[in-house]
Amino acid sequence: MKYVSILGSTGSIGRQTLEVIKSFPESLQLVALAAGRNRQDFLAQCLEFRPLVVSLEQEEDAQWLKEQLARRGFYPEIYYGLDGLVKVATCNQATVVVTAVSGAIGLVPTCAAISAGKDIALANKETLVAAGEYVTALAAKHKVKLLPVDSEHSAIWQCLHGESKNSVRRLLLTASGGPFRQWEQGDLAEVTPQMALQHPNWAMGKKITIDSATLMNKGLEVIEARWLFNLDFDAIDVVIHPQSIIHSMVEYGDGSILAHLGMPDMRIPIQYALSYPQRWTNDLPRLNLTELNRLTFEQPDTQKFPSLALAYEAGRMGGTAPAVLNAANEIAVHAFLAGQIKFTDIPSTVERTLAAHQVVTPSGLEEIIEVDGWARRQAAKILSKY
Ligand code: NDP
Ligand code: MG
Repeated sequence: MKYVSILGSTGSIGRQTLEVIKSFPESLQLVALAAGRNRQDFLAQCLEFRPLVVSLEQEEDAQWLKEQLARRGFYPEIYYGLDGLVKVATCNQATVVVTAVSGAIGLVPTCAAISAGKDIALANKETLVAAGEYVTALAAKHKVKLLPVDSEHSAIWQCLHGESKNSVRRLLLTASGGPFRQWEQGDLAEVTPQMALQHPNWAMGKKITIDSATLMNKGLEVIEARWLFNLDFDAIDVVIHPQSIIHSMVEYGDGSILAHLGMPDMRIPIQYALSYPQRWTNDLPRLNLTELNRLTFEQPDTQKFPSLALAYEAGRMGGTAPAVLNAANEIAVHAFLAGQIKFTDIPSTVERTLAAHQVVTPSGLEEIIEVDGWARRQAAKILSKY
């Protein structure tokens, strides 16, 4: 039996994780849950799964939840805020923590879970982008596993099983290219949040959907892959594959390329992160190869989508640069969603925030958090002038 704690249970990955847990009651048990502002759905989850430890973002929502649950005779430990996320991440009974919050807010609770010896089913890629070196070293120190949930990294992980790292020539991360792949560069300034929130192949949270449209999501994934698989950026390539059937590939030195295919359904990589090292049978919709029309591949256009090139650049700079890239991007995406800036202002905000930053090698988590805060303020200042 694996005992699961979820950070971000009301989100896209969080809900799908609960579906997976429900499908395998003999192997998975939910023990702790945390979410943000959606207290109604969170209440329903608490009543259905009966977790021991729960947390919401705001104190007043936690108080409301306490009253609602008490009325039904249910008394779990209830917390709120960042401390609450840490309590849920470090809950005694949990053996694996699914990190499904969106953004660098996941950093502190993920590190706390690792220090408490929990394996991490990692969806929250921003944590690894902001603090990849720190988090991977911490995981090694505490001998905990970082189990990829992101579909590309799950695919690569599976294509690497049983192989020697020395025989890898490069990783090939596939990208759908987003809804504006075929647009003219000059038209991108007209993209509205509503247009960008329509992803062709995946239904996801708002932040990652915008990141997919700018290709920043793929850039963050390149940095995530660098840390998960400990490979140089020169050995990580991106290929546009609009059908999202091949989830990623590994090219070996002998010329073989191993690929992972499947339906674009996040329940598959979530399940594998939780079943590993086993592989469990489910009854999800299956891929019918003869019904696939064709699979196509093309080069990403970094002129049109500069975010991907910015992520490689920040990744190669190393030190605090990726934390700045990530924080500036979070601020710019929220401003775009709020109608404050244009779609094309997202990469320029990131670029200008990076240009204003003096990269250093962070001494630890505190310094990374400090730099993240600086980048948020700097990005806000830059975009207020657009
Ligand atoms: P969503 O926006 O759908 O969900 C985010 C979750 O985090 C919600 O439960 C939200 O709560 C909660 N949350 C947000 N802020 C806080 C906070 N301050 N304290 C506590 N909880 C908080 O995001 P996704 O599920 O799409 O993505 C989650 C992560 O997984 C991201 O890092 C993303 O990059 C990654 N990922 C997602 C994929 C997908 O298919 N969705 C695929 C691969 C990776 P509430 O809604 O209650 O406010
Ligand atoms: Mg992905």
